[in-house]
Amino acid sequence: MENLYDSHVHINLNQYDKNREKIIKMCENKLDFMINIGIDEKSSEQSIAYSFQYDFIYATVGVHPTNIKEYTDKLEKRLFKMGKEEKVVAIGEIGLDYHWMKDPKDYQKEIFRRQMEIARKLNKPVVIHSREAQDDTFKILEEFSNEVYGVMHTYAGDIETMKKLKNMGYYFSFSGPVTFKGKRSDYTRKVVKNTPIERILIETDSPFLAPQPMRGKVNVPTNVEYVFEKIAEIKNMSKEKALFILRNNAKEIFGI
Ligand SMILES: [Zn+2]
Repeated sequence: MENLYDSHVHINLNQYDKNREKIIKMCENKLDFMINIGIDEKSSEQSIAYSFQYDFIYATVGVHPTNIKEYTDKLEKRLFKMGKEEKVVAIGEIGLDYHWMKDPKDYQKEIFRRQMEIARKLNKPVVIHSREAQDDTFKILEEFSNEVYGVMHTYAGDIETMKKLKNMGYYFSFSGPVTFKGKRSDYTRKVVKNTPIERILIETDSPFLAPQPMRGKVNVPTNVEYVFEKIAEIKNMSKEKALFILRNNAKEIFGI
């Protein structure tokens, strides 16, 4: 069987300060590649640094909707510059977060549009964070349709919106919640069932969202195995065949 990958990790975060090298080595042995996701200026820089240091790590650059207080014209220029790096495979994670609501909706939308514009100009895909903001997120993605597409990270939207986004070229990435018990996860599994496997990616969002049976612990990218197994099970597909397709999807969208 081919090796697993993790399309969404935050290995730079301080949860790993005590054992980062060890965890990266463990990932290098078990994963084909992983993508370290920027959430602000510092983590975007760190992502690029890791991508230089390790062959199997790729990077994204972007400012997460809960960090946009730091967004300035100067940082935008910097994102353009960083976005041109060869191993930067996407702009993200960007989007809207109406759960934490750290900034007003209008400001979140403005900064989201400005970063979509970076992706459009650099001709790179986007990694989208959308929490309790499905309709507004969709409207903005629609404004850029035919020009920008990418990945809905830890997709938690409904089947209807999935179908519309699928027609716009989007992929859907699933993580720990697909393995959880409960109604919300039952629905997520239904979404997986309805999403063509040719549009699905696997991720952990480490250090967050540890899947069953690791739930509650600091997540690590090698736990992507539990997410993968659940997807193969929902799709009623052999692990070999499922992994072949899921890997191709990530390689295709990110140009790896
Ligand atoms: Zn993330």
